[in-house]
Amino acid sequence: MPSRLRRADPQTSALDLRASDETIRIALRRVTGAKRFTLRVRSATRDVILTMPHRASIASAREFAERHVAWIGARIRRLPQPVRFEPGAVFPLRGEPHVIVHRPEARGYIWIERADAGPASICVAGAREHLARRIGDYLRREAQGDIKAAVRTHAEKIEVSIRSISVRDTTSRWGSCSVAGALNFSWRLIMAPAYVLDYLAAHEVAHRIHLDHSPKFWALAHHLAPETDRAESWLKAHGAELHRYGASEPAS
Ligand SMILES: [Zn+2]
Repeated sequence: MPSRLRRADPQTSALDLRASDETIRIALRRVTGAKRFTLRVRSATRDVILTMPHRASIASAREFAERHVAWIGARIRRLPQPVRFEPGAVFPLRGEPHVIVHRPEARGYIWIERADAGPASICVAGAREHLARRIGDYLRREAQGDIKAAVRTHAEKIEVSIRSISVRDTTSRWGSCSVAGALNFSWRLIMAPAYVLDYLAAHEVAHRIHLDHSPKFWALAHHLAPETDRAESWLKAHGAELHRYGASEPAS
């Protein structure tokens, strides 16, 4: 699902919880049919959600949240720290660390310089205030390029048609495939090792034949991307970390 997850809907309100040294905002989500309160701390969006029975009172929601404030605090502290796109910051590109270098005087736009030792540099020309946006735009373009190439290769192999390929900032899924053949991916896959991006492309292309996750689907996914299992384990272990990067800069 794209970032519209964050949009407030009429069923959602929030309450602020006083913890020892901070205030924790908790989004309340009333769900028809929910039998009890459930707390979740999401790493992609760094927010806390309390799912509650439709008829439960706000007071009982607050009481529940207060009882679990230590647990919530511990979960928040365990979230990976956000990394902004700013000079000196390091983020992965195709699985390799890259350090951001600002070259305000240089001609050009954005380019990669490899070093004999240490991480490669991603160099950005132009004014400081455009740096984060330029990196974000660059990563989306690179993601689009790699994903389109991988999708095309896999689609040709099994002779299926693709209606469209779009690249967004999704939080709950790395990719999706509609019945009509519209494929949607997270641009953040460009930060993962190349075999992970390739696997995601193969996965969504395989859905053009099997819309489920049946054994037949997985056999086809493995056929297209022999590193399916390795990529799945990588995403399980490291996928959430990809959401750390490129948090918007505080207004100055
Ligand atoms: Zn799937």
